[in-house]
Amino acid sequence: MSDPVLIIGAGVAGLSAATALRAQHIDVLLVEASARVGGRAYTTKLGNHAFDHGANWLHHAERNPLLALVDPAEIIDTDALRTRRVMVGNRVATAEELAERDAAIAVFDHTIAASKTDIAVARALDPVRGTPWIPTIEAWEAAHIAAADPADFSVLDYAATALDGGNRTLRGGLGHFVATSLAPAAGPVFLSTPVSALDWSDGIRAETARGTIRASACIVTCSTAALARIRISPGLPVSPEGLPMGLLTKMAFRLRGEGRMGLAPEESISPMIRDGEPYMSFLAWPGGADHAVAFIGGPKAWELSRAGEAATAAFVRERLRLWLGSDSDKWLAETLMTDWANNEWHLGAYAYARPGHAGDRAALGTPFADGRMVIAGEATAQDGLAGTVAGAWIEGQRAARTVLDAISK
Ligand SMILES: Cc1cc2nc3c(=O)[nH]c(=O)nc-3n(C[C@H](O)[C@H](O)[C@H](O)COP(=O)(O)OP(=O)(O)OC[C@H]3O[C@@H](n4cnc5c(N)ncnc54)[C@H](O)[C@@H]3O)c2cc1C
Repeated sequence: MSDPVLIIGAGVAGLSAATALRAQHIDVLLVEASARVGGRAYTTKLGNHAFDHGANWLHHAERNPLLALVDPAEIIDTDALRTRRVMVGNRVATAEELAERDAAIAVFDHTIAASKTDIAVARALDPVRGTPWIPTIEAWEAAHIAAADPADFSVLDYAATALDGGNRTLRGGLGHFVATSLAPAAGPVFLSTPVSALDWSDGIRAETARGTIRASACIVTCSTAALARIRISPGLPVSPEGLPMGLLTKMAFRLRGEGRMGLAPEESISPMIRDGEPYMSFLAWPGGADHAVAFIGGPKAWELSRAGEAATAAFVRERLRLWLGSDSDKWLAETLMTDWANNEWHLGAYAYARPGHAGDRAALGTPFADGRMVIAGEATAQDGLAGTVAGAWIEGQRAARTVLDAISK
């Protein structure tokens, strides 16, 4: 009997690859370092409501392959419910200010699109940095959505990965869907089985917490930072160092009492900022939950992750007092903070490319060892789907096809 295909990591990409290979009756060994499946798709409860620590939205709804696998009754069209409040200091932006912001978005988009060399997003924006709202759009797009440091983020990667299209959420949480609907089809998972070393010099051998595994092929789906911690011999054809992990932190607050802080369900608050000011956005009562969530991305998220939960809560409360009034504290009860930076199997939220490394996603995902070794996951996703569960799912399918071809030769 031939050796199984080893899949490292039972996040969305690993589950996707295992499902596809099992459908072809291929012997699969799926190992996961942590004590649960789902990776960065992970739902727990806050009060009686689902809270997604990682992925929450099914982005690119028009072409997201996971939406076809979801019970339609579970899907919430958050775009249809969303209202937005934009703050300038402690007041709501005027219509004129919002028109100025929209004009600045056009300048931002044009400046990014005109950048033909792979410099940092922050450098590409230097010629228009004096334009009001540009620091705000830069913080929203690069630090918040892409979770990256704009000073260290490839402008070509930003342009290739910017989100577009519709967004949906799931009533029971995206992590819950992954664990209960996707994972069963992937077959057994060996939990608490980290891979510490991988040798592909003469066949494929992995050192795990349960001993040595010999494999006919191997699909590695860990985050780029977790990948860099595995001793791989010979070294990878492409280093993951050009694709560092960005950070997005969520701090959720349960609502105290009956009040709703004057905010509608799915209403978001975001500020206008000046260069260097910290950026945070706030989302009220997502999916009908009795909590609200603050989002902090990029360099500020790393700083707060080092400072700890109390410092993060203080930062969020201070922003909310500015936006909602000095008595806003009275609504905020139990908190829950995500901590992806200190999770040893992730070490961040999702990957971005450094200046000069825009091509690294495709290069890292290129199969080697005659197609028997494939790195696949959100970091290697193409077609604008990098950093998403949709991208991770598609990458898992691609990796499965690749190793199937290789072992069938
Ligand atoms: C805060 C946050 C918000 C997000 N929001 C969204 C969103 O709204 N929409 C969206 O589409 N995406 C979002 N994402 C991104 C999305 O979660 C990821 O793109 C996707 O889940 C990655 O899947 P993956 O399979 O590539 O990697 P992972 O989920 O990281 O799976 C890899 C698995 O490998 C395991 N592993 C690591 N090292 C080892 C080892 N040595 N041995 C064995 N196993 C190992 C890990 O434990 C993990 O389970 C968000 C992520 C975060 C953190």
